[in-house]
Amino acid sequence: MSKVALVTGGTRGIGEAISLALKAAGYTVAATYAGNTEKAEAFKAQTGIHVYKWDVSHEEDCAKGIAQVEADLGPVEILVNNAGITRDGMFHKMTFEQWRSVLSTNLDSMFTMTRPVIEGMRNRGFGRIINISSINGQKGQMGQANYSAAKAGVIGFTKALAQENAFKGITVNAICPGYINTDMVAAMPEKVLQQIVAGIPVGRLGHPEEVAQAVVYLAADSAAFMTGAVLTLNGGQYIAN
Ligand code: NDP
Repeated sequence: MSKVALVTGGTRGIGEAISLALKAAGYTVAATYAGNTEKAEAFKAQTGIHVYKWDVSHEEDCAKGIAQVEADLGPVEILVNNAGITRDGMFHKMTFEQWRSVLSTNLDSMFTMTRPVIEGMRNRGFGRIINISSINGQKGQMGQANYSAAKAGVIGFTKALAQENAFKGITVNAICPGYINTDMVAAMPEKVLQQIVAGIPVGRLGHPEEVAQAVVYLAADSAAFMTGAVLTLNGGQYIAN
């Protein structure tokens, strides 16, 4: 029987590419989303991938949602914590709501999504947890104090959890994408985006599929010796700036 992979924010953007790549690699995929039902339903109709709607920042909804996925498909053996948002603004103008919403969606979700699956993984002696952080969690980004804080938190979480679970057959890794061509990046002002692309040695935005292939690698049985790693995937942007 194929392993079950759960991808948060798995119906759009990077998550969509991850869901498709995991399906192509032979996993049974469950993809979650937050509110864009039209897109999620179209994705389901096109791909046959199971979709589920809940808010990853809500503890109880995550526990219920994961229980439903496991009842429908079997135990979650691969968890991809991908869902994330931005609410940009200079910190001296930032509201607590901008701060809270990004911290809860991007960082609280590490707890709310991982806590319900980790004991099962430990009991079965196998698990793959792949957390999508960001280059801006590594280097910080002007206008993104909230986002950078949350994404740096994802890296710390990854390293701690990797140590706690290494002996139980569970690997925990983070991927730090640079700028990837999705709705999130399309929402940025054109001028800012042009400046960013000028600082990417490869000379372009990344493709969602390029992140997805790293996830497929980390999800495999054969990646058992890689844990606590932080994969940079940014067209050389981090080393060049
Ligand atoms: P998109 O905005 O294109 O998609 C975000 C996905 O997350 C959607 O499926 C959305 O659901 C879901 N989502 C958002 N909030 C919640 C929530 N509270 N509960 C459940 N699901 C939620 O983002 P990207 O594909 O660009 O980004 C994916 C991840 O990669 C994020 O964590 C992001 O921070 C990270 N990243 C992105 C980069 C980029 O350049 N694009 C660079 C580095 C990191 P719905 O469709 O219903 O809205």
